Amino acid sequence: MFKVIIFDFDGTLHNGEKWENWTEYMQQTIDYATAQLTEQERKDFMERQNITYNSNTADVANALVNEFGTAQGMIDFQSKNIYRLDYQNMKFVDPEFIKKLSKKYTLYIVSNSPVASIERHFRHWNIDATLFKKIYFNQFLAQDTTKGVFYKEILANEKVMPQEVLVIGDNFRDDLVPAQKLNMQTLETHNLSNLYSFFDNLEH
Ligand SMILES: [Mg+2]
Repeated sequence: MFKVIIFDFDGTLHNGEKWENWTEYMQQTIDYATAQLTEQERKDFMERQNITYNSNTADVANALVNEFGTAQGMIDFQSKNIYRLDYQNMKFVDPEFIKKLSKKYTLYIVSNSPVASIERHFRHWNIDATLFKKIYFNQFLAQDTTKGVFYKEILANEKVMPQEVLVIGDNFRDDLVPAQKLNMQTLETHNLSNLYSFFDNLEH
């Protein structure tokens, strides 16, 4: 049985559609992160790295790290622009569910969204952020751009076996593959009722 739970945030603790202006938002992100390039150089870079203005955060971060060794420009831009991160039709996890889990397990979040953005959502949805021992923002560190670098840190801090950690996420490649590489347990979930019934079944 596991003692520690690591959650992804977007698509896992809430379900919502990407905000309407994602393409515009990602264009501004990439333009900011590659301000040193000419328009043509930026086009070439995006083609070479196989990204578009519709790509997700993790793919753009990887492209930036591959090309320039860092995604810091993207992190800076997204941290400064958290108030734009509004989802359509957002359904958020039940605060009581998190409270109940926190009595039994040590909870963490490892997210591709800035911590300030997550905390802002928590305030809005009445979730006590301190129920999570720590919230990590994936900084896409060049030596390991996956979430694995944070999973390892949590393992070391908690002094538990990988099998005692459950990683929950909606993105198999970004959330769960790095966990499986470390022999952690994983749960893929795409809606909140999925999540609730998993823990219901554990109890019965
Ligand atoms: Mg997600």
